[in-house]
Amino acid sequence: MERRNFINKIYGGLVGTSLLSFSRAREVGEMLNGPVVVSTWDFGMVANAEAWKILGSGGRSLDAVEKGVRIIESDVNNQTVGIGGLPDRDGYVTLDACIMDETGNAGSVSFLQDIEHPISVARKVMEDTPHVMLAGAGALQYALESGFEKKSLLTDKSKAAWEKWKKKSDYKPIINIENHDTIGMIAMDSQGQLSGACTTSGLAYKMHGRVGDSPVIGAGLYVDNEVGAATATGMGEAVLKTCGSFLVVELMRQGLSPEQACKEAVLRIAKKQNYNDFQIGFLALNKRGETGAYCIHPGFNYSLKDSKNERLVKSKSYIKG
Ligand code: ASP
Repeated sequence: MERRNFINKIYGGLVGTSLLSFSRAREVGEMLNGPVVVSTWDFGMVANAEAWKILGSGGRSLDAVEKGVRIIESDVNNQTVGIGGLPDRDGYVTLDACIMDETGNAGSVSFLQDIEHPISVARKVMEDTPHVMLAGAGALQYALESGFEKKSLLTDKSKAAWEKWKKKSDYKPIINIENHDTIGMIAMDSQGQLSGACTTSGLAYKMHGRVGDSPVIGAGLYVDNEVGAATATGMGEAVLKTCGSFLVVELMRQGLSPEQACKEAVLRIAKKQNYNDFQIGFLALNKRGETGAYCIHPGFNYSLKDSKNERLVKSKSYIKG
């Protein structure tokens, strides 16, 4: 698509959302980015590089985000996503993932065991079933029927960590700002189309059966191709209670920048919940290719890649470091 058409298309999409967002679009003028991908945490750098193989050659953002997060799902040294993830308190690695495309279509799996790439199962649910979400044994059954292979996801390293935890834990799940992380990735392709993917093994040593925000559309991830996309990491329970990613996108629809929208969503959580013991980080991308993040405690960062740049960006936080 020619650059001018690309810009017109974006401006066209903005008209009718709100006067504020329209005037912001005019202010921004030609500051549109080409393809861009952002993902949570520093491990997002390698995932972004993988996604860029598709985005950089004119491919679709949906393919890019799926391909990107699969790298982290396969990383045995990453103990918060996919294989190698820390188990629940009973020793089972249970995975949550969801994906959304530019048409607003969505797919998700939760409480899935023994499958290395939950994100690809989520995509299959989206594309090949009449449903949005499959859970537990049903999600596994569907994955196996669809040709995914069963594989043990508990590595020796994660098993050893769980056994150590069991000695002192009294079988009590803990909530703190250390024992989790998720890869949430959102991207815009050269056609200006947005997609997102989110995948995690969730909180370490959670109760068996616990599902967090990451596979829930509107909580861990939300994409509205007219406005923008958002994803979340951190204490899933707090994000679920506030429909976090949906909220961030709706705030961008009202004219807030990605960072302002993430900040407002963090403030809502901070106002109502005791945030001392948990972290939340929101990450957002708008239709103009602008990105931003905000978190509760210092320490959250995100990885960004576009045609000019590849870098790790430190998020601003509600509590100052
Ligand atoms: N949001 C994930 C969950 O609650 C964990 C994380 O991102 O830190 O399962």
